[in-house]
Order: sequence, then structure tokens, then C-alpha cells
Amino acid sequence: MDRDWLDELLAKTDLVQLVSKYVQLTKKGNSYWGCCPFHHEKTPSFSVSADKQVYYCFGCKESGNAITFVKKIESVESADAIKLLAEAAHMPVPEYKGDKKSADLKNKRERLSALMREAALHYHENIYTPGAKAALAYAEERQITSMIKKFGLGYSLGNREIIDYLETKGFTPAEMKEAGIAEQSGDTYYDVFMNRLMIPIINPYGNVIAFGGRLLEKDSKFAKYRNSCQTVLFDKSKVLFALNLVKKKKQREHLDSIIVTEGYMDTISLFKAGFDNVVASMGTSLTLDQAKLLKNYCNKIYISYDGDGAGQKATLRGLDILESVGLNVRVVPLAGGMDPDDVIKREGAAGYKALLDKAVTLTTFKINNLASQYDLSDPDGNSKFAVEAVKVIKKLDNPVEQEEYLMQVHNLTGYSMAVLYKQAELYEEPKIESEPKREPSRRDALTAATDFVLASLINEKPYADFNFDVVPYLTGDNEREAYRLALEKYKMKYSLQSLFNRADERYADYVSGLVNYDFVPGDDRKKFEECVYLIKRRSLEVEKGKLEAEYEATKNIEILSKLKDIEKKLTQMRKSGGFIS
Ligand SMILES: [Zn+2]
Repeated sequence: MDRDWLDELLAKTDLVQLVSKYVQLTKKGNSYWGCCPFHHEKTPSFSVSADKQVYYCFGCKESGNAITFVKKIESVESADAIKLLAEAAHMPVPEYKGDKKSADLKNKRERLSALMREAALHYHENIYTPGAKAALAYAEERQITSMIKKFGLGYSLGNREIIDYLETKGFTPAEMKEAGIAEQSGDTYYDVFMNRLMIPIINPYGNVIAFGGRLLEKDSKFAKYRNSCQTVLFDKSKVLFALNLVKKKKQREHLDSIIVTEGYMDTISLFKAGFDNVVASMGTSLTLDQAKLLKNYCNKIYISYDGDGAGQKATLRGLDILESVGLNVRVVPLAGGMDPDDVIKREGAAGYKALLDKAVTLTTFKINNLASQYDLSDPDGNSKFAVEAVKVIKKLDNPVEQEEYLMQVHNLTGYSMAVLYKQAELYEEPKIESEPKREPSRRDALTAATDFVLASLINEKPYADFNFDVVPYLTGDNEREAYRLALEKYKMKYSLQSLFNRADERYADYVSGLVNYDFVPGDDRKKFEECVYLIKRRSLEVEKGKLEAEYEATKNIEILSKLKDIEKKLTQMRKSGGFIS
């Protein structure tokens, strides 16, 4: 971002005014004082200097300027903090200036945002009308009647009710469709959520961005839950249900941890029981974006998923993502078939609190999970379990931790610690860069070029261009799949994260590597073109080598003509500085 522009933004922002929105400040001399919003205290040790436009806390030593303040208090990344400040200062963010496409998108977002707000308010009003008896009865049965207001729960009164209402507010059915509320059948539009209990999904800025709809009739052929589809406002992989409420809590008091549940009802019922640090992931597998989002709020996460075996593998994969961003993860043990809501109903808040205290680390959870898959009373099952458990433990970098978990395996299997250590030594973690760095070989150069080109395409770098058709020159399945996904993303405007979720499991690691590719300064159009050139040339050379050998062996005239073609292409490439059609 432009330095001058940032300076202007900071000059237009008054830190005292900004902080006053969150903290009651009192003037003393040249500074303003208040209770620190970043640590818990009763006597003010948080000071804001009006002259210097910086803040400092004598208690927890937090300090910074307007941008760091917004970042921390709103739990957002720098770019979003800057956007918020720019909005307040009525300064357009430079990248938007003159960019018609971005401006159109911004207008569209605002328009759909207003539509969603109207819809949520209206669904909420509906829940108190006679037509919504089923919804109230359901809330009563789940014992969440007192949560209807807090979560803004509502009801869809049927086919067209919301559509007619929103039309009176000046919105078109096409807009409703774009917002994910309406669907079209021929010329008519209908409410996709008809006759469902409506759960608004609200982002941390207080905007309704989507809905979850719970079907109330039993034995319906339709799915119990229906979520909004992806819209310009809503990307499921970047959202956590109820994070808006957790954010408010964080602004009020210290936030030590967040409990992550699978579904809306678990979250609502935990809130009702007094746990106000709960969110729902709205799906079993957490995404990298969700993990990063959580990391902005606190460092400790309790995972409180249902206690059934379904989706265990997906669950585990999601949890590794949390650890990969540096979160401290605990898994709440839930007996088979139980969900958090059941525990609250049967044992109350105290019962659930006891479970939180019993939450185990991710590694223990994995070991226990493995143990449940083998029959440990059988010598064969026992040894297989030990081998698999040791693999999990071997992945930990800390020897003290390794010992801790080997002890657990020792307790479960009866194998001596010496044997388990030996097993750990035997198991070699497949390493990618274990060998000392060799001279980059031709193959390495090709790999590096391919990765760079694919990563640039996937990340839609400004210099990346699909017109250089590299596909015929890609040799591996990995690479062809990554290209296919990149093209699909580009055409369909998918987000990076949803693309990652779309990848075939076999290629997910490779694609994830490309998504997180470390670009360096100097990555530009020239490098991109050079890499494309290298890929084409190397692939032609390999092909040429094969054909030469084949011709030697067969003296087949057709092969010779293919060989000539390739040689012609290669010469053409050298002459034209690289580009062949
Ligand atoms: Zn402080």
C-alpha cells in the first residue's frame, strides 16, 4: 500500500476518538486514560497520547497506532483494519479508485447486504405469527426459546411470502436469487428455504451474509439443513457461525478460548447454557481460512464435534489445519452418538464443563481414535496399533512430547518403552528435503518452473496467463489436475479455499502446496514466460529422446517424421525466443 496514502489516512484518523468507541477515556494532562481493552483490569493503565497518536498499556504492554488498535480490537488482518479506518475517514482505498469492476462489486455487495438484512428481520418477525407455530414448538422442544432474539431466529412462511415482501422493499427476484434466498423455476421464483426455521449467519461486522434453514417436519424427503449457496457475500469456507457474538465478548472481556461445534443447534444450546465463546464450523472439515480466522481471536481451541464415527477422517484433517497455524487444540471427548446438545440436556452446563476439563490434545485424540480401530486384546491388533500410533508420535518435533505419548501407547499396549523407542527409530518419516542440497539438475529446474507457473495461475497473479497453453506439456497427473483446477477457478471465479476443497484427495497436498506457494519479489511476467518456455522445451526434448531411441530400434518412417516435427518445433522455439503455438 502507498506510504503517502497511509500517512494521510493516519492523519485523518483521531486515535482518541477511535479508542473512545470501545473504551471510556478520561483526560489527564496530555494523555487520555482508560481500562485496557486487551487485558482484564479494574483501574485504568491504558493511555492514549493525542499528540503522538499512539497508545500504550502499562499493564500488558500492548502498544501501537490506529491500525494496530483496530487490528487487535476487531480481530482482523491489517488490510481489513485499513479498510475499516478508510471507511470511517471517507477515504477510498487506492486499489478501488478508478477500478470499475471493484466499484461495481462493492455496490452489489452493499445492495445484497441490505437485502439480506431486510430478509432476516422479516423472517424474524414471522416467527411470532400464527403460521410459525411449528418453529416456536421446535424452539421450545430444544429449550432455546430464550435464544430466538439473541440469534435472530426466524421462519419462512412458504413459497413466495418473503419474495413478495422483499419486492415491496424494492428488491428484484433476480437479486434475491443472487443473494441465495430465491430460486427460479421457469418464470417464477420461490423461497429456497420455504417452511424452514431460519438461522441467520452474521459476519463479525454485523452483516447478515447467509442463512441456515432447519426443516421442521419429520420424515421429510428433504435434507434436514439447508445452507445458503455461495454468493458474493458468503463463502462458507471463510465463515464461522456466531463469530459475531464471540467478537462482542472479546471486546467486553478477555477471551481465553473458543469452542468449535459442528452445527448451529449445538452452538445455540451451548450459548444458552452459558458458554458464550462458541462458534460452529458448519461442516466437518475446517479450512485454512477458518483456522486463520480463529487465530485472530485467541490461541486455544476446543473441538466439540459429535461423538459418532462418521467423518472422523475429515475431522482429523481439519484439526491438523488448526495446529498448522499455531493454535493450541483440545478435543472434547463425547461418547458415541452424543452431541454437545445432548450433554447439556442430560447433565446441564456443569456436565459439559466437566467434559471441557477432560478435553485431550490432538495427539491423544488421534491415538485413542486409532486404538478404537484395533482389537488390543489380540496380539496382532495390539502390535499393528502400536506401529500406527508410533507413526503419529514420530511426527511431533519435541522429544519430551514424544516420550509423553509413547508412555500412553505403553500403557495401552503393554510394550516396554525400550521397544517403542526402537520402533520409533525404525520408522522413517518420509522426508521431502532430507538430502543435502544438490546442484539443481535439469529435472529440478523443470519441477521448479512447473510449480511456479501453476502456482501463479492458481493464485491468479497479474502476470499469469492461461493463453500460454502448457497443458500438453505437463507430464504428471498432479500437475494436470492442478492446471484443471486453476482454469476452473479462473472461469468460475472460485475462491482459493473452495478450490482447495474441490481438489481430488489424491492431489490435495500438491494443490495445497501451490496455493501456499512462496512468491518472491521479482516474480513477474518475464519469469512466467521463461518458465513456460522451459516447460515446453524440456518436454519436447524428453519426447525427442524417446522417439530417437524408438527410431534406432525400429527404423520406422512414421516415427522419423514425428521426430522431424519435434525438431522443427524446437528450432522454431529457439528462433522465436521461445514461443510456439
Ligand atoms: Zn493492557
